[in-house]
Amino acid sequence: MVDIRSQYLRLKPEIDAGISTVIESTAFIKGPAVKAFREELAAYLNVPFVIPCANGTDALQVALMALNLQPGDEVITTNFTFISTVEVLVLLRLKPVLVDVDPQTFNIDPDKIQEAITPKTKAIIPVHLFGQPADMDRIGEIAAAHNLYIIEDNAQSLGSRFTSSNGSSVMAGTIGNIGTTSFFPTKPLACYGDGGALITSDPHLAETMEMIINHGAKVKYYHDIIGVNSRLDTIQAAILRVNLKNLDDYIARRRKAADYYNNRLSPNSHIRIPEVFEKGIHIYHQYTLLINPDLRDSVQIKLKEQGIPSMVYYPVPLSMQKAFAFAGYREGDFPITEKLCKSVLSLPIHTEMDEEQLDLICTKLLNILNHE
Ligand SMILES: *Cc1c(COP(=O)(O)O)cnc(C)c1O
Repeated sequence: MVDIRSQYLRLKPEIDAGISTVIESTAFIKGPAVKAFREELAAYLNVPFVIPCANGTDALQVALMALNLQPGDEVITTNFTFISTVEVLVLLRLKPVLVDVDPQTFNIDPDKIQEAITPKTKAIIPVHLFGQPADMDRIGEIAAAHNLYIIEDNAQSLGSRFTSSNGSSVMAGTIGNIGTTSFFPTKPLACYGDGGALITSDPHLAETMEMIINHGAKVKYYHDIIGVNSRLDTIQAAILRVNLKNLDDYIARRRKAADYYNNRLSPNSHIRIPEVFEKGIHIYHQYTLLINPDLRDSVQIKLKEQGIPSMVYYPVPLSMQKAFAFAGYREGDFPITEKLCKSVLSLPIHTEMDEEQLDLICTKLLNILNHE
């Protein structure tokens, strides 16, 4: 699905030099590369504060802790995403309120957010899924009208942009009170292990989050609040500095691969190519097709038999996960998410794809579909 090795080999001298510098300095924790990376990422995103942390799940947890939400407070989020959001909400004794998604973009549906608001609602967590932003204009209006916080889960769309109806174009993840992201090896901006970050323009939240990731301390061994230990390794920061310099090139490469797929696959009547949200820039973290649910699994098996990987992101709605059964959701509560889970199929997409690979994948896929 991805080719991290070829990407590494292309940038090997610079990455190896960055890693060696850290090892020689032995500044493994809070070394100079962490400071440099956070400043460079803040400049790239055009925000005052980036707080690196250990992973994207921690980033969500720290964001919620910083907003000082209380047990029982309700947080609205999407049913069609990775488990992290619901996991940290439950750990913090907050109540996840899931809502259905837009069938075109797969992102949280603002109308459904509106319907889910109660007097206990305190925050909304839109997830910018698969590489394009949720409708932050509509979500912003709803949040303002009901005095809610917004945490953008931007693990899959760092480098994507959102153009609001007033014409301004801003980086995804910088619009809500807090943005969170992950540097897991397959994410748009990646390291060679785990990593994550918090993004904000609010100096007070920045200070609080910085304390929370440092065991609640501003001064070592003086703990003012309950925190966690969540740091970005210096070695990972050194790798991230190289990848950040190349992020716009990575995005251009992914968009080029997506263009190729779109041209070859759009005429086929068995599939729907990804729809682009008009207010966003799609960076194609995933290239996700919709296929008739009756065909999807057999197409995936046949692709596999012919050596073509594909993935189903995501096979089960959060509402139907065993770990979340206590919430009492039932089959049928989220018709769009449930249908997507049976229809989506993601094809390989990464920064190192050439036309030969793309041609092979398209030829085999079209061949399979034409025999259905
Ligand atoms: C990957 C991901 C996360 C979690 O990031 P980790 O670094 O793996 O903890 C959270 N939310 C979304 C949408 C993700 O894709």
